[in-house]
Amino acid sequence: MPTFDLPMRTISLDIIIIGKGKIEKDAYAKILAEMIEKTGLTKLERDPKKVALQLLSATSLSDWEVFRDLDAPRYTTVDYYRMACHMIFACQRCGNCCTTGDPIRLRPEDVAAIAKSLKIPLNKALKKYTIQDPKKAGVLDFKHILPCKFYDLSAKGCKIYDIRPWSCRIFPFLGIYGSEDRVLVNELCPGSVETMKILKEAIKIVRADAKMSNVADPAKVRGAKLFLREALNSI
Ligand code: SF4
Ligand code: SF4
Repeated sequence: MPTFDLPMRTISLDIIIIGKGKIEKDAYAKILAEMIEKTGLTKLERDPKKVALQLLSATSLSDWEVFRDLDAPRYTTVDYYRMACHMIFACQRCGNCCTTGDPIRLRPEDVAAIAKSLKIPLNKALKKYTIQDPKKAGVLDFKHILPCKFYDLSAKGCKIYDIRPWSCRIFPFLGIYGSEDRVLVNELCPGSVETMKILKEAIKIVRADAKMSNVADPAKVRGAKLFLREALNSI
């Protein structure tokens, strides 16, 4: 499994693919060219090398060390990796998540938004679309219907995209937890596998760059953390 040695402290971050697939070691340029062609992803702020640079910088000091004065949420190194993945991620619109995802968790406000959008009473929306999660008391899921009732098979998209539930918004990286020392990748989501390949290659390139040697300046680290936290605002 790959190991990332970060500038100030060395940690091991295992990247796990759920399922049987393996990440191939393609050339960075080829992967990036393909990604740009497929997704039109050309925005500078999502450039994988820029994201990798900010990621290595952001994780070189802990949140406790650089946000002492801020009443801000504290995130772990793995959280920042997830944010970086989320920044690079481009959905390939394969529909796997919407056709096989189960359970799909719902917050009360997700159901309220759906009810409002469909112009039906909240009680009706609860009855029609939700069930109590069998394993987690007090948690709601979409009723077990695959594909998801709101998936448009012909258009390959979500019919309620603008108000889709939180768990759909944060999928795949910010929604898959389970370990605080690993970023989990869902093999059924080709976009997530591609993202991991790109991020790994970008990290390799950035780490080989001598300019990386001075990333532990607290002001720069703080800036890098804020840069990555933007991912949470873009959900
Ligand atoms: S609500 Fe939309 S995004 Fe979420 S699973 Fe259903 S179709 Fe997919
Ligand atoms: S499985 Fe991944 S790539 Fe496919 S539609 Fe869902 S989020 Fe997009």
